[in-house]
Order: sequence, then C-alpha cells, then structure tokens
Amino acid sequence: MEHCKIVCVGQNYHAHVKEMRSIVPEEPMIFLKPSSAIIGDGEEIEAGDVGRVDHEIELALVIGRTARKVLEKDALDHVSHIAVFNDVTARDLQSEARRAGNPWTLAKGMDTFAPMSRPVPISRAKDVHDLDLELRVNGEIRQKGNTSDMIFGPEVLVSYISRFITLEPGDIIATGTPEGVSPLNDGDRVEASIPGVGTVRNTFRRV
Ligand code: MG
Repeated sequence: MEHCKIVCVGQNYHAHVKEMRSIVPEEPMIFLKPSSAIIGDGEEIEAGDVGRVDHEIELALVIGRTARKVLEKDALDHVSHIAVFNDVTARDLQSEARRAGNPWTLAKGMDTFAPMSRPVPISRAKDVHDLDLELRVNGEIRQKGNTSDMIFGPEVLVSYISRFITLEPGDIIATGTPEGVSPLNDGDRVEASIPGVGTVRNTFRRV
C-alpha cells in the first residue's frame, strides 16, 4: 500500500453537494491524494496552523486486479477489498483554492490526512450499495449516511476512472462523503465506522 495511489471522488452524495453549496456534477469529480497521507487505527491526525480541518467519512474500494477501460458490469471484479476511509480536509485552504481555481492538493494531501481501517475482503459486505456510514466525534454522531445515496455508484466510479487512469492492485478509491462534515478541534476523538466492515479511530492534534 506504500506506493499505491488514492483516487478520491468529490461531491458524490446529494445532501453533501447541497451543504457545500455546489451543483450535482454530470460526471464524477476526481482528485488524487498521496499515499504518504495514510495512517491507521489509533494514529493521530495532525495539522498545523492551516485553519479549519474537517472529517469526511467515506467507503474505500481497494483494487485487486489491474483495471484499464473496464465496463461497469465487470468493474467490481477488479475490487478485492473495502475499508473505512476518512478524507481529512483543510477546508479553508480548499475554499481558497476553489475561489482561485487552483488545485486542492495541499488541502487534501497533508501527512495523516488519510486515516483508513484495515481492508477486508469485499465479500464480507452483503451489498456495497447498502452500507451504513457513521462518524462520531467524542462519541457524538456527526455524519450518518448510506452508500445507496451515492450519485455515482462503485461500478460507475471504477469504470469511469479506468477510462483515463489505470488502476493497479493496492490502489484505493475513496468514494465520497455524505452530509455532516464538521470542523475538528485539538484533542477530538474521531471514530469512523462502517458496521460489518470496520472502524478507524484517530485523535486530532493541532501541532
Ligand atoms: Mg471527500
């Protein structure tokens, strides 16, 4: 996983598009996050003086077989594992970048900004199109969603991305977050869960 790429999908849940005052995209909106940002369960999310930092719980798909120009009907054959992912975002930096028409790389790609649970075989999930997502901060529910609310489902995402970018074993697709993103404060305990799939718990530190 050290040299994988993380392809993230922006604005892929209707209610989240609304809370960000964005418009529903006609095609998936994708961006990359560096694999150096990945941390595991129990590690700390760290951010310096970069303004607001938000959590974003997401379902992660892990590629098991090289995917290049795959059809939607074959797409899930290329996904071997799934996991819970937190697409940590420096929201003020992202907003500035959006206003200026600049890339989001820094806002999304800092070290520790990709907490992820240990991947489990996709067969562990009864249906990837019907998974609950729950994110708690200090025990209090902040995000609650279900993968059935995605604008572009897992097959569409794998197929779409693979038209342009070859997906290789170990690569990760972070499929977007439901509504309820909120800012983190120093010392907050963040717990992202997909029941039946996993949990990733991380404390946020302002360093
Ligand atoms: Mg996201």
